[in-house]
Amino acid sequence: MKFATKAIVTGQEPDPATHSAITPIYQTSTFVREDIGIPQPYEYSRISNPTRTALEKCVASLEDGLFGLSFSSGIAAEHAIVSMLRPGDHVIAPEDMYGGTYRLFTQVLEPMNVEFTFIDAADFDEIKAAIKPSTKMIWLETPTNPLLKIFDIKTISEIAHKNNLLLVVDNTFATPYFQQPLKHGADIVVHSTTKYINGHSDVIGGMVVVNDEKLYNFIGMYQKSIGAIPGPFDAWLTLRGVRTLAIRMRQHEENAWAVARFLKNHPKVEELFFPGFEEHPKHHIARQQMTGFGGLVSFKIKGGYTEAKAFFDKLQIFHLADSLGGVESLVNYSTQMTHSSFPLELKKKLGISDNLIRISTGIEDAEDLVDDLKQALE
Ligand SMILES: *Cc1c(COP(=O)(O)O)cnc(C)c1O
Repeated sequence: MKFATKAIVTGQEPDPATHSAITPIYQTSTFVREDIGIPQPYEYSRISNPTRTALEKCVASLEDGLFGLSFSSGIAAEHAIVSMLRPGDHVIAPEDMYGGTYRLFTQVLEPMNVEFTFIDAADFDEIKAAIKPSTKMIWLETPTNPLLKIFDIKTISEIAHKNNLLLVVDNTFATPYFQQPLKHGADIVVHSTTKYINGHSDVIGGMVVVNDEKLYNFIGMYQKSIGAIPGPFDAWLTLRGVRTLAIRMRQHEENAWAVARFLKNHPKVEELFFPGFEEHPKHHIARQQMTGFGGLVSFKIKGGYTEAKAFFDKLQIFHLADSLGGVESLVNYSTQMTHSSFPLELKKKLGISDNLIRISTGIEDAEDLVDDLKQALE
C-alpha cells in the first residue's frame, strides 16, 4: 500500500464492536475484565487504549516502521528515549536543534550525569572524534530548526553502527511524507506530532517509531511507567489530522516554493534558507534522503530587530507564533522565541541572529501569502 492510502486505512479498520467507520474515541480509563487472570488486549488506558493504538499503528506504517509509541508531547517522546540512558553515558548531539530538546538535555539530563557533546553534524570527523567508550547514542535533527541545515542520515548511521551506537532522528520537519529515516539507517525516529502530523495546531503530541522489538519494549516500558501518554481525544484528533498528511504536505511544499522564489531576489532579503534551492550547501544530500523539501523557509531581513519587528507588525495573514506545521501560515522570531534558551554565543555561532525570520507556510492560496509578504516588506 502507498503512503496516502496507509494514512487513511492503517490501524483504522471499522470498529469491531459497532462497525463504526471512523475509529471511535474510547474515552475510558479502564476496561471491564472477563475474569480473573485472563489477559485482555485492553485493561487500563495508561498502558493501552484502542484510539491510541490506531494512531500508533498508522504513524508507524507511514514511517515504514514496525512499532509506534505515542506520547503527550514531542518532548515526552524524546524523554522516553533518553530514559534508556544511565549516569555516565554519553550522547553526541548537534549544536543545531530544537530549543526544547536542548533544554531537556542540558537542564534535565546533564544534572543526572548524562554527558552531552554538541557538535557540527555536517562534519563527520567531528562526530568521530567525539565518540568515546561511554558514548551510547547519536542524536540528529534534519532539516534543522530554524536554519534548515541538512545532515546526512545514511553516513552518520554508518558511523553510529560501526561504533555500536544508536542513531535517533527527529523527523518533525520533514515528516514521513518527505523523509523516512529508518530506511537510511536510523534506529529510532521521533516526532513532535504537534506540528505537521496533526497539522491543525490544536493538539500537543509526540511519537516514537522503531523497527527493533527490543527497543520497542524498552521505550514502551518508559511510556507506561512515566505515563506521558496522549488522552483518547488527543489521539483521535491526531489520527484525524494524519489522514490528510499527504495532501497537506504537497500543498505546504508548493506554497513554500512560491514564498522562497518570491523572497529569493527581494532587495530587503539578505540571506535565504530553503533546501530546495541548488545553492543550499547540502541540496544534494536533501535530494538523496528526501522526496520533497518541506514547508519551511527562513530568511534574514536586511537590518535587525527594528526591521524584523516592522515586518511582523505589517503582516496580516501570517501570525507571529512559536509553532509550525499547521494549515495556517506562521512566522517566528527564533532568537527570542523558539531558541530563547540557547546561550548567546551559540546563537551567534549558528547564525540565529536578530534579523532571522522563520516562515511556516500553511496551505492557504499561495498568491495571498506572497502578496502579504510583499506588502509587509515594503
Ligand atoms: C516542536 C518540536 C519538538 C517538541 O515537541 P512538542 O510537541 O512541542 O513537545 C521537538 N522537535 C522539533 C523539531 C520540534 O519542532
